[in-house]
Amino acid sequence: MVPRTMRVQRVRRETADTVTLTLDSSGHTISFEPGQFNMLYAFAVGEVPISISGDPNRVDELVHTIKVVGAVTRALCQMRKDDAIGVRGPYGRGWPIRELAGADLLIIAGGIGFAALRALVLHVLRHRPLFGQISLLFGARTPGDLLFPRDFSAWQKRTDMQTLVTVDRAEGDWRGRVGVVPALLSEVPFERNHTVAFLCGPEVMMRFCVRELERRGLPDEHIYLSMERNMKCAVGFCGHCQYRENFLCKDGPVIGFERIRSLFWQREI
Ligand SMILES: Cc1cc2nc3c(=O)[nH]c(=O)nc-3n(C[C@H](O)[C@H](O)[C@H](O)COP(=O)(O)OP(=O)(O)OC[C@H]3O[C@@H](n4cnc5c(N)ncnc54)[C@H](O)[C@@H]3O)c2cc1C
Repeated sequence: MVPRTMRVQRVRRETADTVTLTLDSSGHTISFEPGQFNMLYAFAVGEVPISISGDPNRVDELVHTIKVVGAVTRALCQMRKDDAIGVRGPYGRGWPIRELAGADLLIIAGGIGFAALRALVLHVLRHRPLFGQISLLFGARTPGDLLFPRDFSAWQKRTDMQTLVTVDRAEGDWRGRVGVVPALLSEVPFERNHTVAFLCGPEVMMRFCVRELERRGLPDEHIYLSMERNMKCAVGFCGHCQYRENFLCKDGPVIGFERIRSLFWQREI
């Protein structure tokens, strides 16, 4: 439970309210799976769960992408090079990468939810021959809210993956798609027996996507969600993230849809 102190190595502004911090983790032995998270402690302010958004292959750095919503995320987003952050983790279950060899992958992200999926994308592209077709669907509120623009321009040039981007509201010189993420699914043909879907974003977005995936016959056990419910301890003590018998900090945040199906359609849990 005691945080390790790490220094900020690099700060990259993604959007007006979102920052990617690269922490120097050399000297600490840390390995993580795509989809896991750390508890980041802004000293004297507080501690919050944040997904690891960097390349799982890099052991010398830890990358997190943080959106300002309250006191702790604001303090983290104001960090500068060489500032100290407390780090506990990695925690939780990540995306089930070991079970996916040969599968077609449908990766669906909304807003800051893409932070939890970026490590997965980096992992599958590094091991590209192991997977079938890869489709990446991403949406944000406005063009200015689209995360990881440099990654996207590189990924969009690749011929071995399909990348679809949409915004809720066009602004400036945006010439791309306008609409919600679930609408993108109509552009993606998939073979229901060979496809596995990974989703992270606002729960309302995930509900509509899951409904569409089910309508098109994707089995529940081929759908994985990152359920980023508010949590405090990250080790199953505090109960903040309890979702019936699941503690999402330990049994999640990535969880198979069939495990939470009966609760998922209820608005308030
Ligand atoms: C497993 C996990 C991974 C996460 N990964 C990331 C990430 O990669 N990047 C990122 O920016 N954020 C991520 N979050 C969300 C982040 O933890 C919260 O935004 C943060 O805890 C808010 O703390 P705060 O003190 O800044 O704001 P607070 O004052 O605590 O909250 C501000 C507002 O946001 C709401 N809120 C807080 N946490 C959540 C939540 N988890 N879901 C929905 N609403 C919430 C509060 O109810 C309140 O209305 C993740 C959360 C979880 C559980």
